Amino acid sequence: MTNPVRKGLLLVVSGPSGVGKTTIVHEVIRRLGGEFSVSATTRARTERERDGVDYHFVDQTIFQRWIDEGRFLEFAQVFGRSWYGTLQDQVEQALGEGKLIVLDIDVQGARSVKQRMPRAFTVFVLPPDEDTLLKRLHARGREDEAAIERRFAEAKTEIDFARTSGVYNAFVVNDDLELAIDQLCDLVRAR
Ligand code: ADP
Ligand code: 5GP
Repeated sequence: MTNPVRKGLLLVVSGPSGVGKTTIVHEVIRRLGGEFSVSATTRARTERERDGVDYHFVDQTIFQRWIDEGRFLEFAQVFGRSWYGTLQDQVEQALGEGKLIVLDIDVQGARSVKQRMPRAFTVFVLPPDEDTLLKRLHARGREDEAAIERRFAEAKTEIDFARTSGVYNAFVVNDDLELAIDQLCDLVRAR
């Protein structure tokens, strides 16, 4: 029998590529306990990533089948290229078990989740400035120059959307990493 009192917390974290979401989210989960929502994506796996841990890496056919089967809480095409989607099962199971579940998803995804689950706590991570963001994208060394340019160009639009849409409950500036992690932990605890 399910216990109606055991409701978890759905934390949605968005922010431009390279701002530090992955770094922050995993440390927040380590400190507070909780689960990372492993999205499905059609993007190619990088050397450092593990299938089923960072993402479920799938091809277009499987992704489309999962759409048709209604398995996604939300899905979106990001940077006009690859598809990304949050698997409903994992989120519902974690919430049912009273856990904190953390989604690292883009602004389109955050808007969909907020519409479907208004109690979701949505946080947008901002860079201290544009130069720093560009430096971090380069420092990570994951994408080629063209992909970095695409991601950087998208950042302004995402930040404008985040500021004006009303989708986000809170903003955290990731300048000093420790401070940003502390701030997000405090926000979650207060929630
Ligand atoms: P995202 O998941 O938002 O794309 P990442 O977590 O992959 O970003 O971080 C991008 C790069 O920036 C990584 O190399 C990470 O180590 C670095 N980074 C993250 N936060 C900071 C920070 N506060 N100061 C300096 N470097 C940072
Ligand atoms: P990356 O390719 O850098 O891992 O992720 C690119 C972008 O896709 C990031 O903004 C990330 O938050 C977003 N993203 C990752 N998973 C999902 C998802 O399941 N749904 C949506 N809408 N966006 C996602």
